[in-house]
Amino acid sequence: MLKEKRALVTGSTSGIGLAIARALAAEGAEVILNGLGDADEIACLCEELGATYNGANLIDPDAIAQMMADIGPVDILVNNAGMQHVAPVEDFPPEKWDAILALNLSAAFHTTRLAVPGMKAKGWGRIIATASAHSLTASPFKSAYVAAKHAMAGFTKSIALELATHGITANCISPGYVWTPLVEGQIPDTMSARGMTRDQVINDVLLAKQPTKSFVQPEDVAALALFLCGDAARNITGANYSIDGGWTAG
Ligand code: NAD
Repeated sequence: MLKEKRALVTGSTSGIGLAIARALAAEGAEVILNGLGDADEIACLCEELGATYNGANLIDPDAIAQMMADIGPVDILVNNAGMQHVAPVEDFPPEKWDAILALNLSAAFHTTRLAVPGMKAKGWGRIIATASAHSLTASPFKSAYVAAKHAMAGFTKSIALELATHGITANCISPGYVWTPLVEGQIPDTMSARGMTRDQVINDVLLAKQPTKSFVQPEDVAALALFLCGDAARNITGANYSIDGGWTAG
């Protein structure tokens, strides 16, 4: 389905991004991986997927510009890299605020602005953001993340309108809690911010939000991303797809 398509998936050395990269590669796309991690493990992933890798730190706009110049035009851009920090707003470290806004929001602006000319030249493109249920609703102690994800939803709608006549779609996928290192990593901070045990955080904070009482799987998100890359999705643009076990229906 995606032969002849080149796809950059940011933050694809782990979690949701890796599942999306696997799904795109399985359909024949030439995948460019990005993200942090162990060099040997990343080399194994490249071999598994027949992918190449660019290790740009997406907090740095200059590094993003260099990456986009190095990899050349892409047909599919998945803005997925993200991070989380959990703390009351009065204790929220300003440098964490800046990093989250840079990675979860501004990086997508930079990759998009640099990818769009190539997509316009071909008259075809797919821009997908891994947003979050937190693009639609909020939770306490996640002020930077919620601000960035709400902004990603607005950014995506705006570029969808701009690009609508160019064969380029732009959509958000908004997962609820997906069991990945990002979720596992926020459990200790949530335990201290809320004075809870690990089991209480999993059951009373995380899964409490999801009526299905189960974590979304990275592969579920990847299947939706793959659908959005296909021809059947050519008229889907500016949408924000929830895949959150019913969380935002409540
Ligand atoms: P993850 O921690 O497994 O993966 C994050 C990826 O981003 C990794 O590849 C990591 O190396 C990369 N990354 C981190 N900092 C980077 C940097 N400075 N430069 C380049 N790459 C960097 O997390 P995940 O859960 O797979 O999250 C992926 C996306 O999904 C994020 O945008 C996250 O906000 C979003 N999301 C996750 C969940 C969830 O429950 N896991 C829910 C909704 C949305």
